[in-house]
Amino acid sequence: MKKIEDLKVLIDNKTLIKRIKELAKEINNSYDIKKPLTLICVLKGAAMFYCELAKYLKMPLKMEFVRLSSYGNSTKSKGEVKSLNLSLPNFENENVLVVEDIIDTGLTLDFLVKFIEHNCCAGDVKLAVLFDKKCARKYDIKPDYSAFQVDDKFIVGFGLDYQGFYRNLDYIGYFE
Ligand code: 5GP
Repeated sequence: MKKIEDLKVLIDNKTLIKRIKELAKEINNSYDIKKPLTLICVLKGAAMFYCELAKYLKMPLKMEFVRLSSYGNSTKSKGEVKSLNLSLPNFENENVLVVEDIIDTGLTLDFLVKFIEHNCCAGDVKLAVLFDKKCARKYDIKPDYSAFQVDDKFIVGFGLDYQGFYRNLDYIGYFE
């Protein structure tokens, strides 16, 4: 079991919030802010990023939540997506922005985007991630908006967990 004493700070809270505000500005500038947008949160990891991002978006927003898992209790992807709750409405051609904590191999987001495209009649489907771990990518999928790049470290905090813990930290840390 990893211990909080061994956790090193990678990104402090001030830097996280500042960057999320910048990302929201980028998103506001690239959409027609008069048109409705549905923001989909991929639980549980994206919860903190999702709530923070939503505060600064200017278009009429609808908020939806799905729950997927590909890591279980491990620090490596298990290579299959477990869908714990995937009930989404019909989007009737409206724009959708999927919000995820981190894209690693790309498996989870590849699965979710294909699901939305095949089942939910969405208009445009885009992706916003807090972290892009590009070096681990195995699927041909690229986020439209990403706040930070991260190298091959296992990070926790601000929604991201290790064995269910550390999600409540207001900063991003890593174990050495
Ligand atoms: P992918 O499907 O892209 O391989 O993995 C995405 C999911 O893996 C994320 O939603 C997250 O739950 C988990 N994940 C990937 N890298 C990390 C990491 O560095 N830290 C934590 N806590 N979870 C990670």
